[in-house]
Amino acid sequence: MANTARDLLIVGLRNAHGMENQAEELMERQAERSKDYPQVQARLRTHLEETRVQKQRLEDVLKSLNENTSTVKDIAMSFMGNMAAMAHAIAPDEILKNALANNAFEHYEIAAYKSLIALARQAGETRLLPILETSLKEEEQMAAWVDANLENVTLSYLAHRTRAAA
Ligand code: MG
Ligand code: FE
Repeated sequence: MANTARDLLIVGLRNAHGMENQAEELMERQAERSKDYPQVQARLRTHLEETRVQKQRLEDVLKSLNENTSTVKDIAMSFMGNMAAMAHAIAPDEILKNALANNAFEHYEIAAYKSLIALARQAGETRLLPILETSLKEEEQMAAWVDANLENVTLSYLAHRTRAAA
């Protein structure tokens, strides 16, 4: 039981590392492209920094479990691929599409960390709990911000389009 839990934990940590790599790429691109939405850009930059630390945490955790992180092969899950494709699309309403995609992405991350926490507990790796909970909290805060900002983003996008049409 403990060994199976440990194995699943390691797979989950590797997947989470791949997820954070995707998150980093998505937010780098979005932060560059959201100059017209300074509040969004500022929040993306803050979460980008958090994401880099989250990646490092996962690498440190894998190392502490004697997993060689230099051979960590990141598996891009199809969900993530779709999200990435969505964010790639250069459309006039990309700020809106990204807001919706980010909502999904942050909730995916929340689920991933909750699952890792359950596995760490089952594997008896309780020292990992505060580390994973720190990342979980950051994802929850970002998800809450994305949610709270949806109306704002929609209305400022509308204002941009209205000005452009005038
Ligand atoms: Mg993250
Ligand atoms: Fe996140």
